[in-house]
Amino acid sequence: MSEKILFLQPPKMVRGDLNTGPVLFPIALINIASYLKHHYKDIEIKIDQFSNIAVIDEPLKKLGILIDHLEKLLTENNNYSMIGISCYSTLAYIPSILVGFITRALKPETKIVVGGIHPTAMPKNFYDITNIELRTLKGENIKFPEKIFEYVEEIEKKRYHVFDYVIRGEGEHALYELMKKGKRPENTTTLNSTPLTEEEMNAIEYLWGLAEPLKDKGKTSYPVIVSRGCPQGCKFCGNLPKKWRVLSPKKAIKILREIVKEYLPDRIDFSDAFFGCKKEWKNKFLELLEKERTQNEFYCETRVDYTSDKDLERYLKLNFAQVDFGIDGVSKRMAKIMGKTRDPENYIKRAEETVKKAEEIGLPIGCALILGFPGENEASLQETLKFISLNQKPSITSYYINQYTHYPTTMIFGKEKYYERRYGTIFHMPPEPWKILTTKTVAIMGHISPSKELTYKKLVKTVLKLKIYEASNRADR
Ligand code: SF4
Repeated sequence: MSEKILFLQPPKMVRGDLNTGPVLFPIALINIASYLKHHYKDIEIKIDQFSNIAVIDEPLKKLGILIDHLEKLLTENNNYSMIGISCYSTLAYIPSILVGFITRALKPETKIVVGGIHPTAMPKNFYDITNIELRTLKGENIKFPEKIFEYVEEIEKKRYHVFDYVIRGEGEHALYELMKKGKRPENTTTLNSTPLTEEEMNAIEYLWGLAEPLKDKGKTSYPVIVSRGCPQGCKFCGNLPKKWRVLSPKKAIKILREIVKEYLPDRIDFSDAFFGCKKEWKNKFLELLEKERTQNEFYCETRVDYTSDKDLERYLKLNFAQVDFGIDGVSKRMAKIMGKTRDPENYIKRAEETVKKAEEIGLPIGCALILGFPGENEASLQETLKFISLNQKPSITSYYINQYTHYPTTMIFGKEKYYERRYGTIFHMPPEPWKILTTKTVAIMGHISPSKELTYKKLVKTVLKLKIYEASNRADR
């Protein structure tokens, strides 16, 4: 089989002052491409990282550049048999639709597939899409590029369906099957893709050369994942497969060697949802990493209750520039309501010990906290504030204060009635706010009064105060 596949990763559409954690490196696409190449030796795969050309600030102005880029890309290469669009975030929903319109108008006969966490949660959002109102940019004085409407009109006139397939879950297995299907379906069709097994993950040769490392202030970093899934089930988190699957420590080290040899990055970022979930794996992997004696810096994100003081010492010795902890809830009440732990007492104790130990040894850490999850009240908010003021180690610890945002990808989405009844939560946002053309989607999806005792207004006041603290804390360094 000699075929060409193109993967596109659209930008997010958000305001720059919102803490939305841009993920612009196409790790998932590299994994999918590697799996396909493993099975179909004769295919050619290209990943277009154009998410990097549309910056987070003033994204709509950048959409003009995006359209030109896409037109050039699709017209100079006419023989792609399949084009995959990665809608990796709800904030990439409208850009993914736009990319879909342009791609379909220019490539009417090509199989177009969309996947990612938003399609997994909301597959029907990718069916009849020409009715999405694109002309009115709510409350913002930015003109949407006129050219896009020519494409939409073309699609409406010819009655094209934009996406042939919507893939739910990890994409590898579904795309593997699609490679065998030559014909496009009559209508948009959803495919549920089963997660990759550990054996399959370990069998693949990963094609890291398909994407360029990230550059920031003269430094390069290369994001990599060595595991997938998470058994924890925190209620604000996306619906990840429950089974944690990981590359063997040897395989993971082999990958690091390849990346170091090819790119000499200053830093390697382990971007796993939960790095080092299993103790035996973590011990073995860190032991092998010690033997590598690499000069690189590292980064990972993990949990406090799965990290011992000894682990923290090891991370420091191994040149981890930062270890981030998704602590999320530091009031006993909220840690439990959020499904973060069944033992809030010990969980919060471990969070305190972690901050103390990091300060003692000089390991920089980041602590992410979520405020305003449904059920939060004045007392739990005060408990969180107390935790932050008692555990301020400004030279070492950064707090990332996040206001809860009701993404459709969270586990509690669709269960609003339960929170309304139980805590008096009010979800103020309109239905499907990600379909509104605005760069304020995050703010709209965070418009929630968490409980009878805590209104949205009061919550925002506290979050804003804490964000000021966070900013000045960072500026100190
Ligand atoms: S927040 Fe972290 S620990 Fe919780 S389910 Fe998500 S990945 Fe797992």
